[in-house]
Formats: sequence, structure tokens, C-alpha cells
Amino acid sequence: MTINEALSEGRTAFTEHHLETPFLDACLLLAHTLGRTKEYILASGPDPVDEKSLVTFRSLVARRLENIPVSYLRGVKEFYGREFLVDPRVLVPRPDTETLVETVLSLLHARPEPRTVHDLCTGSGCIALTLKLENPYLQVSASDISPEAGEVFRENCRRLGVSVPFILSDLLSSVPGTFDIITANPPYLTDEEYAAMAAAGWPEPRVALAGGLEGLDIFMRLIEKSVASLAPKGYLVCEAAPGQFEALGKAMEKAHFSSVEVTRDLAGRERVIIGQV
Ligand code: GLN
Repeated sequence: MTINEALSEGRTAFTEHHLETPFLDACLLLAHTLGRTKEYILASGPDPVDEKSLVTFRSLVARRLENIPVSYLRGVKEFYGREFLVDPRVLVPRPDTETLVETVLSLLHARPEPRTVHDLCTGSGCIALTLKLENPYLQVSASDISPEAGEVFRENCRRLGVSVPFILSDLLSSVPGTFDIITANPPYLTDEEYAAMAAAGWPEPRVALAGGLEGLDIFMRLIEKSVASLAPKGYLVCEAAPGQFEALGKAMEKAHFSSVEVTRDLAGRERVIIGQV
């Protein structure tokens, strides 16, 4: 069987199961199987796939049909140009979260004094480690309520050759000190949205996704508590879902943030809220 034929077999199976990106999924899984990039796969259509690789590829296709995300099958996900280890202990980094990183980088660019950054609900560490790697002078620390996420975070530190302290903490409760910037991509899906994903067998951790009835439970606690952990003129920068910004803006005003702004993701949807104390 050729690369093209294997891709076509995978794509057909994924299309029949109504997956969103059937060709891309097939391509990434075949690239993973053969230890090649997806660009190599796309450029090598007529090349043969050996029997052993075909068996591996077909078993990955079967697992993808069980609704396991491609990133868990590959064990890695690209974020801001780097590869992060991911598995069911952590949320898979989303491209939308790069908007949060960009927002923080532009804050740093506009006002270079901020030195200390703490990333809450850090998971794989994609935000914290990216900020540290992009700006090595920053003092970055991170926390998460999940000890399993802490394990993945530390593996990512080793893999990317960066040292960022991890604190096991329910939001800021065990995090000492104050910070110039606090970042967070907290769980913000509504219980209903999460229940639909869980019913479809989606394996990402509940603790990383489910944010209560309207998805705002963790946010409300976070906004209230973060004020005491922000340095003067410090920023709280959080990712949220497009429909949540009015409620978040009001909560920030109530918590005495002096200014609140919103930035949009690449699809033009409201995605990141920035509050300054
Ligand atoms: N953006 C994620 C999703 O839609 C949710 C991430 C989160 O809850 N922090 O699946």
C-alpha cells in the first residue's frame, strides 16, 4: 500500500465517523507512525508503507475512531512553535490560547517593567513555559490543582530545557507573593457543554474543562482572589469563551480592577480579558 492509499483509507474511516478534520487527522497519524513530518507525508504519496507500519497506523486509526484526540495518540501538541508532551493528565493546548500568549507578550512589549508572572491552572505548562522561553528575563512560576498535571508540567520543563517552579495549589491559595502579571486558562465550559463532551467519550480531564453551570464558577473565585496577589498596576490576563465577557467585565469592575480590555482570537471572537488593578 502507498502513502496516498493509507491516507485515503484513514480519511474515509474518519469521514464516515463525521470527524471534523478527517484528512489532517489521517496525515498526522501516518506521519507519527512513520516518524516523519506531515509535510514529508504530503510530498511522498507514491512511496510504499511497510506492513508493520500499516498495522500501527490502522490501530491508531481505530483508536481515533474511539474519539481519542490525535494529540493524545501522538503524545505531543505544537503550541507557539514548540512541542509539548500531552496525555490524558492534561488539557491539549488549543491554538486559541496562543492569543493569550500574544496578549501578554504585547503587554510586556508596551511596558517592559513587568518581571514576575504566575500562570494559574497551568496544565501542560504551555502558557508558562512559552512566556519563559520567549522572555528568559521574566520570573515565571506556575500552579495547578492537579498533581498529575504537575508531572506533565515537569516533563515539559525537562523536554524544553527550561526551569519554571510548579506549585500544587487550588488557584492562589498556596501561592505566596505578588505578581506583575497573573495568567490563566481556567476551566470555563458550562456543565452542559462538558457533559456533552464526556458523553461522546472525550478523555480530557474534567478538572481542566468544567466551570460550573455557566462555566464561570472558577473565574469568579479567581477574579476575587487575584487582586490580593497582584502587584500595583498588575494585570490579570485570562482566556474565556466568547459569551462570557460581559459577566467577567462586571466581576472585574466589582473587584476594583481599574481598567478592563478584551482581545480577540484569530477567528475574530472575543477570547482574552485583561484587567489591570
Ligand atoms: N477552549 C476549550 C474547549 O473549547 C476549553 C478550555 C477551557 O475550559 N479552559 O474545549
